Amino acid sequence: MTTIGAGLLLEEEDNGCFSVILHYADGTEEHLPAATPAEALITAVETDYSDYRREIKRLWTEYPLFEEHLDIPTADLEDFVAEALLLPSLLHVKDPVGFFVLGEFLHQSLQMEDDGSASFLLKAGQQILRILEEPIRTQIYLRNIFEMTFDGMERTSQRERFEKLRSVYPDVARLCDPALLDGVPESGRVFSAHNLLGLYLLELALYFHQDKQRITRCEYCWGYFIPKTKKATRYCDRVIDGFPCKQRGSRFQRNEGREKDEALLVCKQLRDRMYARFLRYKDALPEEHSRLVPMDYSQYDSWSENARLARMEYLRDELTAEEFLRKIDTTHELKSYETGKAELAEETVWQRRVASDLTFDPESCYPKETMCLDLSPRAKGTWELVTRDGLRRHDQRGHQSLREKYGKA
Ligand SMILES: [Zn+2]
Repeated sequence: MTTIGAGLLLEEEDNGCFSVILHYADGTEEHLPAATPAEALITAVETDYSDYRREIKRLWTEYPLFEEHLDIPTADLEDFVAEALLLPSLLHVKDPVGFFVLGEFLHQSLQMEDDGSASFLLKAGQQILRILEEPIRTQIYLRNIFEMTFDGMERTSQRERFEKLRSVYPDVARLCDPALLDGVPESGRVFSAHNLLGLYLLELALYFHQDKQRITRCEYCWGYFIPKTKKATRYCDRVIDGFPCKQRGSRFQRNEGREKDEALLVCKQLRDRMYARFLRYKDALPEEHSRLVPMDYSQYDSWSENARLARMEYLRDELTAEEFLRKIDTTHELKSYETGKAELAEETVWQRRVASDLTFDPESCYPKETMCLDLSPRAKGTWELVTRDGLRRHDQRGHQSLREKYGKA
């Protein structure tokens, strides 16, 4: 966007708040309401893109433009472009930043010169769709960053949350390292970003650079929130199906050991597997797709949403462990739905890491040591120092029964 003079700016205001400025190519600017980094990030994670996503999916399926034939009529691309350009308007109110970025990127994309090749129209159409998917893709990454950084981390410090992120996504952590902001005078700071992910990584760096607000995950609804006090807070203030999370949550708390429930652990493992599948599919070249299990962003997203809703039903005792596992195992990955036997077939974390990265090297991949919260019945939630070897062994334990793995005799 910098090439045409348009861009995203983030300007510091009072009280730890920042305002996003949409800088248009003609020099005009629009200031969005100020928010703290924690507030802005939670809003981004929660934006509902479902109707927008449905429309993109419709374009993919309705336009024969994307079928493999060489004589695509120009009129098809014109119809397609006319329809595609209407889609960002669905985001104008709920995601003004996404709306702005799409406008700039689409504008650039349409300047692309026809290279005379037969596949030009096909490529042009696909590029437009990829641009339209940018807000959704960005949200998926952000949701995964949140899951890895804020889930089960309420009793930790900002530093420990950042270290956890670094241990899972080192490349992401490098880009949102709060150390990058050291030495920048705090007040009136202005930053610029080139795309949506860049903006949110910047917000993350600013978030980790302060400790007035922290982000945590509600143990009941799994939504993210900012606790009002320093006291460890388990539930948010949302009201789900007419009941405040606090009320439902304390019932669930009485049912001791539920958090360590095997079915919930299996749910988490399945989710990790689906995400790895999504990343592999996304990064693969089109000709490699036939060798992979298909998992595009919309398949991944509907898997996650189905699992989230089933998990809540399970926590409300509306599903047995077996029904819960049956409901989330839409791709038939589990060997059995019986508690204690519901083991994932094949693939372990270890195998997945190796499979997803040819240059995978345990020495550089795992930190020398890190602090982990031990939830085994023996340790009852104490922090322990885990070495690189310990982390590797943990990832390799995929072929044992859950009973062995989690020490439930
Ligand atoms: Zn909640």
